[in-house]
Amino acid sequence: MKTVIIGNGIVALTIAFRLTQRGNPADEIVIVGGRQRPSSATLAAAAMLNSYAEIEAGSLDSELDRYRFELSRDATAAWRSFEEELSASVGGDSSRFGAQSAAGRVSRGTFIVNNTATDDLEDESFEAIVAALDHYQEPYQWVSPRDIPQYNPRQRTRALRAILIENEGWLNPRLTLEKLDFVLQQDVRVTVLDTEARRLLATDGRVSGAELDDGTIVDGDRFLLAAGATVSDILRASDLGLSVQRVFSGVGTSIEIKSPEFALTACIRTPNRGLACGVYSAPYPGAPGEDQDHVLIGASNFISPDRVTRPRLSAVDNLLRNVIDQINSNYYRAELVRVNVGLRPSSQDTYPMLGQTEIPNFFIATGTKRDGFHLSPLISTILADIMDGKAVDPRFSALRPDRPLIRALSRQQAIDKAVRHTINAAYQHGFAPPDGRLDDQIAKLHRDNFERLHDQVGAHDWGIPPEMLDMYRYGHAVA
Ligand SMILES: Cc1cc2nc3c(=O)[nH]c(=O)nc-3n(C[C@H](O)[C@H](O)[C@H](O)COP(=O)(O)OP(=O)(O)OC[C@H]3O[C@@H](n4cnc5c(N)ncnc54)[C@H](O)[C@@H]3O)c2cc1C
Repeated sequence: MKTVIIGNGIVALTIAFRLTQRGNPADEIVIVGGRQRPSSATLAAAAMLNSYAEIEAGSLDSELDRYRFELSRDATAAWRSFEEELSASVGGDSSRFGAQSAAGRVSRGTFIVNNTATDDLEDESFEAIVAALDHYQEPYQWVSPRDIPQYNPRQRTRALRAILIENEGWLNPRLTLEKLDFVLQQDVRVTVLDTEARRLLATDGRVSGAELDDGTIVDGDRFLLAAGATVSDILRASDLGLSVQRVFSGVGTSIEIKSPEFALTACIRTPNRGLACGVYSAPYPGAPGEDQDHVLIGASNFISPDRVTRPRLSAVDNLLRNVIDQINSNYYRAELVRVNVGLRPSSQDTYPMLGQTEIPNFFIATGTKRDGFHLSPLISTILADIMDGKAVDPRFSALRPDRPLIRALSRQQAIDKAVRHTINAAYQHGFAPPDGRLDDQIAKLHRDNFERLHDQVGAHDWGIPPEMLDMYRYGHAVA
């Protein structure tokens, strides 16, 4: 069996790893992806293994959302054994990849701080996180914000309440990718091609080949498209006759800093806010012999139809200001190591796209948006099962890549949510209404605007996912 995998981020490589773990000695795997991984989301990630910390008010209301949350919780548990397996595959060389290579060692501990930097939407999300922790009996502790190590915000943006989620941790994604690269390259069955795929070719109702940038055709028995945010570009060029919703770029900037005096021992973050993941700082230790005192701060988000390659100045400016104001004011004297820009694969309906398509030998894995790193041990197991024709939980088929758009929100819910998040985002960017009713008036302007957009695109009995409003407004997303 020859499998061709297009893409080389965490999703593609963990699936490749799973297939090598299970496959027979005659199997072949070809991985197509540029060595530099331009705009890879994985390289820009923290990478936090958050599931409860990602909850927002209303985010567990539907059955599908609760199933997605179940997957997220299972992924947290899967990381321990996944790390063990990966370390065992690295063998004697495991120490070169650092502390996280020690079998099964995933660093844990995430502090959630509830501050007043934005509006009370964030209080609701904080309370939703606590309610879910209680409901699912997940261990956590209330802590005084003053006792959080390396939490030293400016006085006016300090938190008055905080919790520690004990089991939510982080990994350095660059080291994890290096480790996967190393293991896969040692495997004689795996060929890695340092280039990109232009399109896929079909013959007799099956995908038969991938055309590379230099025109070479790679043939195979089955094909997995896991190229993150660029999946739609490849599908558009391929003409496979499939109806697959569009995947956009959730353009995210994160910044790596070096802060010897204020090295972190756990993640510190706010709840999600303004359609993004809030402000956070995560430990970012290097490999042995490298600095262990780096910190990753993040993250911005805007949705784009393009393959953006450079961060916006405003994203960098906001991140630096927010992390100094809201996490540690001493970071003003930290050193700048690197600015990352990564494209979160963000599907039009905002749900992951995972599984087999109507073309039996063609599979897609993308759309993981904000938590693809965290989900990867689980996604890789399920996708490998699907590719090998094994039965999986029937609920997983709701995420199949060529599904009709999932319309999770009613029009009213979507508009309410869009207004709340837009105002919240304005507070993040310095909105300070004067005395009077300007904030109510601005909320009304946004509401009218979103109502009109819903009418224009024919969204009478369904809601546009708030993060996709601009994609509908400018015609990039079609109802
Ligand atoms: C700033 C930021 C912070 C984040 N933080 C977290 C976090 O803390 N925790 C978490 O779980 N997730 C986080 N995420 C989300 C996570 O990074 C993504 O969900 C995940 O990395 C997606 O993995 P992927 O393999 O699908 O995509 P990618 O990592 O983008 O990989 C796709 C790869 O395919 C390659 N490629 C593109 N086109 C082609 C082609 N035509 N042919 C071949 N190869 C191609 C790309 O160069 C790239 O290397 C974050 C994302 C960002 C941007």
